[in-house]
Amino acid sequence: MLVDTAQTSSPDTIVEFIAQAKNRESAMFTEAEGKSLLSSFGIDTPQGVEMKVGQELPGHLREPLVVKAISTTLVHKSDAGGVRVGVSRAELNDVALQMRGSLAEFGHQLDGVLVEEMVPAGHEIIVGAVREPGLGWTVMVGLGGVLVEVFEDVAFGLAPLSETQILDMLQELRGMKVLDGARGGVKADIPALVTLISRVAGPEGLLAALPAGVVEIDLNPVIVSGTRAVAVDARFVVGAQDATGAEASAAGNAQVTDFSPLFNPRRIAVLGASGKRPNLANRFIRNLRAGGFEGTIVPVHPAADEIEGLPAVASLADVNETLDYAFVALPGARVAEALGQGTGKVRFAQVVSSGFGEVESGKDLEAALVATVRKAGIRLIGPNCLGTHASAGKLSFVPEAPLTPGTTAVVSQSGGLSVDILRVGAASGIDFHSVVSIGNSADVSAAELVSSHLGNDEVHVIGLYLESLGVAREVLDVLSAAETRKPVVLLAGGRTSGGSRAATSHTGALAGNHRLWPAIARQAGITLVDSLADFATALHALSTVDLSVKPNGNEAVLFGNGGGASVLGADALDRQGISTRPLPESVIAELESLAVPPGNGFHNPIDVPAGTLAVKSGGVAADILKVVLAGSEPAVLITHLNVGIIQRNLGATHGDVTGTIIDSIAAARDESQSNTHQLLVLKSDGSDGTGDMVKAYARRARRIGIPVFGAFEDAALASRAVLEQSKQIHQASLGADGRQ
Ligand code: ADP
Ligand code: MG
Repeated sequence: MLVDTAQTSSPDTIVEFIAQAKNRESAMFTEAEGKSLLSSFGIDTPQGVEMKVGQELPGHLREPLVVKAISTTLVHKSDAGGVRVGVSRAELNDVALQMRGSLAEFGHQLDGVLVEEMVPAGHEIIVGAVREPGLGWTVMVGLGGVLVEVFEDVAFGLAPLSETQILDMLQELRGMKVLDGARGGVKADIPALVTLISRVAGPEGLLAALPAGVVEIDLNPVIVSGTRAVAVDARFVVGAQDATGAEASAAGNAQVTDFSPLFNPRRIAVLGASGKRPNLANRFIRNLRAGGFEGTIVPVHPAADEIEGLPAVASLADVNETLDYAFVALPGARVAEALGQGTGKVRFAQVVSSGFGEVESGKDLEAALVATVRKAGIRLIGPNCLGTHASAGKLSFVPEAPLTPGTTAVVSQSGGLSVDILRVGAASGIDFHSVVSIGNSADVSAAELVSSHLGNDEVHVIGLYLESLGVAREVLDVLSAAETRKPVVLLAGGRTSGGSRAATSHTGALAGNHRLWPAIARQAGITLVDSLADFATALHALSTVDLSVKPNGNEAVLFGNGGGASVLGADALDRQGISTRPLPESVIAELESLAVPPGNGFHNPIDVPAGTLAVKSGGVAADILKVVLAGSEPAVLITHLNVGIIQRNLGATHGDVTGTIIDSIAAARDESQSNTHQLLVLKSDGSDGTGDMVKAYARRARRIGIPVFGAFEDAALASRAVLEQSKQIHQASLGADGRQ
């Protein structure tokens, strides 16, 4: 029978294709089935027919032709001589017979051939997708053909994809220049390619219609010429039967929770503190009191009358007033029962106990715990976590916690790391609104907390430490759906390339974690960082700068003392994708007309010797910065000062030069009202005492809204974070009110 690949298919046909694949004991649709499916979604495929060897070719196909083997056991047809291009009608039969022989050598049986029209040459692109449990469809585009797994020039995204997001993915390819017709090559019809990908992965595309039984697809290649994008190969991979319903269901309740009692609890219960041997829960009580917690602490203990000098109750059943927060550090098996006694009385319970879903043997225990808290009307944080830190509420799980209330809220999948986030973050100048360690997030999810932070005016910046791509996907969905936009920084654990799996498709083989994290971050408009130090650096910058500033472009101006230092600074910026181009001639001329000693470099970087910085005891900085802001309005302006050298050489004669320069930065900013973000690098020269001096200056600068970094590399990373997030925020406001 002849099967015309141009015929269309309905959802029923897809189910039929899956059943037929199973009947053939094959993991794939036939190419003809795949292509008929593609054409029913408006995706261009070559005209073709399936036929038996020796059968007469129908008249409507135009030469030259392509002959392809049909064989249930063959995956990569060319590997076994199963594809011949540029064939004429006259050669058809001979080619098919040769193909039969060639396949036999590789142990495959030729069941028939697919004969199709040969598409004119163009760029070979791979478009593919894999269905990942908890993530949905992950979409890949790359420079295809045989070299896809050699060069690995691919970009990932998560369906559904908008056309803009598809273009962003294409821009990420190193080979994009080739598609654009670099070096005299064919200029590919990019809009046709975007339309094709959108018909695969857009909101109403093919992927959205595929039942759970289909787990991978590869269109390799899509041939993109100057006028068309045609899928000339189609591989649809069928998964195990139980793939149905594999999609993750979002954790958490559908109800909208008010999280303010968590961040400002008035009454706290502590379950698990000991009357005899102080443990984690005892330390929690001590931390609360040492931190000046002003509310009521109610220790719960079955036997003791008094814990940490506070009257204890035997069970939550004995409590009369509502508790905002319960800190639970009981052995895992006792947690559900103890919380069940608090039905209707406890708003949030943080279960630090482990032995739940993080281990196979604890999965049932976790399910029982969730069932109990749902019935009891308690929102559960954890289990298997460390606690919640909330500065305004004077609630923390670390001793001597940094409790200055701030605007940065962090959600962390790791308990241990959340301690480091608090400590390192505070040292980098971050004042926290909160740090919530969510552990297994059996009930309250990261996405739910992000959603709550987006609606909370006290929170300006959100930081995430995540280890699970599924959780990141939920956050992506919350951010995409939200009307408000706030800066978000993500530190992702588990980004090594080991995550790639063995798969039938190229896409499956390339879809490693190290590629999916950046894809999610790009799509969600999140700044992705690699280390705890960078996380703190980015959060510090974003919580300090004025985000209503709308920077234009991607350029930086550097100003300071030390020529070599500023060259390295420009290099560090370049690595973050930020350029430092020479200032306009008019700006240079204006700078040269300032009354300063000789020896200055007024291009970009602007290098001035200490003698120039001493002018007006440092007040000259305001003159220089105003000229730059008015004349070139760069996206970022970074001042860098070697505090040790400046204060040692000028301190005695010119007073507080560094302090005056810091005030000058703020003065220039306030007067010019420019769309420039200003950052400051304060370097110590390593001498005794300079470190403390730098710290004091850094505090002074932060107080007036200037973020401070100890090294150029940090300022460069911060600049990237600020520019990325500014772009997100202003795009969002553009979308919301439809104006510039
Ligand atoms: P394989 O199973 O080996 O991936 P393909 O169907 O992708 O087989 O064919 C191998 C190569 O042959 C393609 O990469 C493409 O270069 C070329 N090709 C296949 N079909 C066509 C066609 N209809 N028109 C033009 N070239 C084609
Ligand atoms: Mg192929």
